[in-house]
Amino acid sequence: MFKVLDSAVPIACWSCSVGHVESTLFCPHCSKIQPPSGSDFFHVFGLDHLFTIDLEALETEFHRLSRKLHPDRYARAGEIERQWSLADTALLNDAYRTLKDPISRTEYLLKLEGAEIGEEFSGKDRAANGKDPSRVPADLLEEVFDLNMQLEEMRMARKMGEEDPSLTASLTDAKKKFDILMDAVDQDLRRQWQVWDSGDDAVRAVSQKKMVALLDRRRYLNNLVRDVTETLGA
Ligand SMILES: [Zn+2]
Repeated sequence: MFKVLDSAVPIACWSCSVGHVESTLFCPHCSKIQPPSGSDFFHVFGLDHLFTIDLEALETEFHRLSRKLHPDRYARAGEIERQWSLADTALLNDAYRTLKDPISRTEYLLKLEGAEIGEEFSGKDRAANGKDPSRVPADLLEEVFDLNMQLEEMRMARKMGEEDPSLTASLTDAKKKFDILMDAVDQDLRRQWQVWDSGDDAVRAVSQKKMVALLDRRRYLNNLVRDVTETLGA
């Protein structure tokens, strides 16, 4: 888990030697490009660690920084500055791609805050206390059981070269239902963003747990939708 640079310690600019506390792509004093640092994606854009962000402002800032890092601007610069401009561009692109997508932004910030999320943790202690996210959410047990039977039937029918319109219709309905459930998860996530963004440490700890659970549920639903789409499209 990487930590944000201690912002109380000033970093001296390589060019003008003025110390600045924010680790940014450009020196706030002389505007010279800075070497790529361990700065996190939020700090690349000068943003605080919050889930809710202004996407238009993010895009504007992305284009502004991209222009400032453009290779043409470094054609006559030294070799090291040229290399920094390439490395900073890669960092900027990663940061933009991650922050503009609501789900990857949520996962990224939760990880920065120390949460364990994603498939890599699904087998760990959560399996032991009965919350293994790879297991079917309780409210979906029956549905998933039916769905798996229908998916199997569909694959068999396909193998035999048969079409079953009623099966296709019922799988299409199932997909619609899972899409709606996923929308509900996304709305719940957005509500938690607000709770977390405006909350104190205690509120944030509770909200963080809820978001991790919502992301597990979302991943599960997403896999279901993918299975149905693949089977229908085969
Ligand atoms: Zn400087």
